[in-house]
Amino acid sequence: MEELSRWSNKYVVLDCPTDMAKEIVVSHVRDISLGRRTYHYLLSGLIMDDRWESEVIEFGAINITGFRIVDLNRRPVKDFLDSWRRLDPMTLPGAGRDSISAQAALMYDAVAVLVEAFNKFVKKKIDRTNPKRPGTPSSSQPANVSDPLDCNTSKGWVTPWEHGDKISKFLRKTEIEGLTGQIRFNNDSRRHNYTLHVVEMTVNSAMVKVAEWTDEAGFQPIAAKYIRLPTQEIERNKTYIVTTIVEEPYIMLKKPEPGKVLVGNDRFEGYCKDLADLIASDLGIKYEIKIVDDGKYGTENPDVPGGWDGMVGELIRKEADIAIASMTITSERERVIDFSKPFMSLGISIMIKKPVKQKPGVFSFLNPLSKEIWVCVIFSYIGVSIVLFIVSRFSPYEWRVIKLNGGVDPAMTARGDPSLQHPHSQPGSLHAPNPCMANDFSILNSLWFSLGAFMQQGCDISPRSMSGRIVGCVWWFFTLIIISSYTANLAAFLTVERMVTPINSAEDLASQTEVQYGTLHHGSTWDFFRKSQINLYSKMWEFMNSRKHVFVNTYDEGIRRVRQSKGKYALLIESPKNDYVNEREPCDTMKVGRHLDVKGFGVATPIGSPLRSKINLSVLTLKEGGELEKLKNRWWYDRTECRHSDKQDSRNELSLSNVAGIFYILIGGLLLALAVALLEFCYKSHTEATRAKIPLSDAMKAKARLTIGGGRDFDNGRWYGLQS
Ligand code: GLU
Repeated sequence: MEELSRWSNKYVVLDCPTDMAKEIVVSHVRDISLGRRTYHYLLSGLIMDDRWESEVIEFGAINITGFRIVDLNRRPVKDFLDSWRRLDPMTLPGAGRDSISAQAALMYDAVAVLVEAFNKFVKKKIDRTNPKRPGTPSSSQPANVSDPLDCNTSKGWVTPWEHGDKISKFLRKTEIEGLTGQIRFNNDSRRHNYTLHVVEMTVNSAMVKVAEWTDEAGFQPIAAKYIRLPTQEIERNKTYIVTTIVEEPYIMLKKPEPGKVLVGNDRFEGYCKDLADLIASDLGIKYEIKIVDDGKYGTENPDVPGGWDGMVGELIRKEADIAIASMTITSERERVIDFSKPFMSLGISIMIKKPVKQKPGVFSFLNPLSKEIWVCVIFSYIGVSIVLFIVSRFSPYEWRVIKLNGGVDPAMTARGDPSLQHPHSQPGSLHAPNPCMANDFSILNSLWFSLGAFMQQGCDISPRSMSGRIVGCVWWFFTLIIISSYTANLAAFLTVERMVTPINSAEDLASQTEVQYGTLHHGSTWDFFRKSQINLYSKMWEFMNSRKHVFVNTYDEGIRRVRQSKGKYALLIESPKNDYVNEREPCDTMKVGRHLDVKGFGVATPIGSPLRSKINLSVLTLKEGGELEKLKNRWWYDRTECRHSDKQDSRNELSLSNVAGIFYILIGGLLLALAVALLEFCYKSHTEATRAKIPLSDAMKAKARLTIGGGRDFDNGRWYGLQS
């Protein structure tokens, strides 16, 4: 067996007596060089009906399948066992216990069949004293019931017993309920219509029926119903050893007050210490905390005695009686130790370093709309203005006639309106004859109209033609929706300091290689990824397994790595620990994404421990009574060190930095206006100087006087401002 591969499945048929089979199984399990769950033993015969002691944990450590014929749940068997148990095993070997071997049961049934057959035979009142010879003509000697039968065939003839035939007929006809089920025979005197039970050994060395085999219907699997072991009484005056692991906030070493030395369980504090206290007082037992020697939770390890290391190994080797720690309930562990119902629910989660919060920039008022929208809006604005201009040019209703009586409306000149035209005049001619055609929607005015509408301000010109109004309408509607959407988003974008997290889910992690990620080595999370059949998680496992350095030996090491790797390392960690660390100084870690699975922490005991059901009950009671919730609040949230950041978050007013951009635009606009005014001033002075043939400086002086005097200053009786 040792030469066979340890990891592939092997099927072994054992055909031997019960004691030898037991010995082989036990020595197999104790041989650490052999695998366990990869071996499947099929025990032939009916040796499973014999007693397989549930105290021998080795029986449950390997897969065993066999057959039984005695069904302990049937009434006749129960009645029989009641009296069987009371018999003295000294005088009746095999009696005095709760089971009967298949051989004994079959023997018992055989006798019962005989008794039944003979009873019927007697009842038929057959004349035994004067029998009429049945049978063969060759037989010459009469035989009597009381005569001994001569079985010596060497004489050349046999005298059949005269009642033999009848008795065998009665035997064949007998139908009774025996210990081994319904007993019936067919014409060939073979038993028929009987049932064999296919049973498997469970982890607690008890048997469970998994299928039935009948001679008529063949093999029929059934849903297995696992049997609980009868609970034994717990010893009250024993001090139970509780194994655990130092892990904040489950178990921590307590800092002693100055001058004091802590001893015993007082050296520890934490969620699991409180839980252990509650359970112990509930059960009325004393306990002593022992920190696990190798600092591990427990994984299968052929190099250590018992085949498991960590807390699981200590329970298997009976070095501890209970494990109270953040130990995850897994199927692998459940095979070798017992777990209570979960005292805490959790899932695998992702821990990353908190990215630095991004303060909204000075131009964050642009954020409510994306860049593309802003570009589209600008193009729409230009497009609408051009269309309005063209439409107004084409539409005759946009033109109007102005009567000019030898002069020009000064306001119109000031506006420098190029659309003021006459068919026979040069554009811009100020001495045009009457009448004159005017159109408000020059290209600049069109741009001005569209801008006024977009800014929700309006302007003093508006289209009069149908076509122009249609353009106006659609543009107003467009601006209404754009501005409403902008306003609706504005507050959120200005006030929220947004945290841009590079990783938001397991999918994000799997789709990149820049941020490395890992788990605790040989923990349940590691095991989860190793075994996962889900594509995403197996891809993540391949990534991690190909870079072994991503695994950490303790959570503390992993958390340090997350904090020091500048966002380039993420830890796959169980959610309660993630929540706890995020509440601790320096508050620079965070949980992202949903949980990858759902599971629980359980209190573990060795298989078959009398403590198991009591602890189970106790955990459920504590859970229902809200005690566990209180404990969680006490160790997780009441001790938080990161509250201050929540308070800051609740203050939502805008700071100057949020809106600085609009001030910059305002100042920029004003400066631009001043610069443009200066340019206009120079340009106008230059035209004036050329036209009036005076030096530029004079023209400028005259203009400056106008600027300072506010239009009431005259030079040589001329009003420069409106001189035409
Ligand atoms: N609670 C885990 C266990 O029982 C250890 C932590 C982990 O694997 O993430 O193995």
